[in-house]
Amino acid sequence: MNPINRLLAGYRSYRALYHEKRGDLTRQLAEEGQKPEIMVIACSDSRVDPAILFNADPGEIFVVRNVAALVPPYSPDSSHHGTSSAIEFAVKDLGVREIVILGHHKCGGVQAMRSIHQGNKLEDREFIGAWMALAEDACAMHGADDPGSEAAVEMATIKTSIRNLKSFPWILSRVDDGSLRLHGWWFDINTGNMLAHDPKTGQFSIVDSVPDLMGK
Ligand SMILES: [Zn+2]
Repeated sequence: MNPINRLLAGYRSYRALYHEKRGDLTRQLAEEGQKPEIMVIACSDSRVDPAILFNADPGEIFVVRNVAALVPPYSPDSSHHGTSSAIEFAVKDLGVREIVILGHHKCGGVQAMRSIHQGNKLEDREFIGAWMALAEDACAMHGADDPGSEAAVEMATIKTSIRNLKSFPWILSRVDDGSLRLHGWWFDINTGNMLAHDPKTGQFSIVDSVPDLMGK
């Protein structure tokens, strides 16, 4: 099918479901505005769409996607901070209560970073190197030469993003008073498993077994 026709077919399905069968929901969202309690910072990868992975309705999750789900450190300067702007809006205007960093296996951004770390030069690439340098410490920690370290670097990248979230003073104050929680999740596109970072152990485990997530 022509790719644009594929998009149009999908749009017609969405419209039939949400604007005809579930018109109450979309009318309410239009009239009262959005009030999502969850922000997801995810990778742009086409295989890890948060709305699909979490079976979310319109209005349920506020999403920002970029290469490798990175959060830059707090830098209130005149640069163009797309991700930080979205975080600011989610926290200060929407008042989200949970922020999930959603990394994943076989991440192209992390693969590019590992390649640079191995000394390779990415030909004809102007932006990806500087962007992925945000997570350089993840490579430095786990090495880029060992193919077996791929998942470890991806998970360390998620931890870097959580650490950078805490560099925003208005995030840290909300975390400290308990009105905001930060989560690091890693999706395995091979198995469909979702693993969550357990801050107590520093390890990633299947989401159902992380006590804090289960309210234990
Ligand atoms: Zn990715």
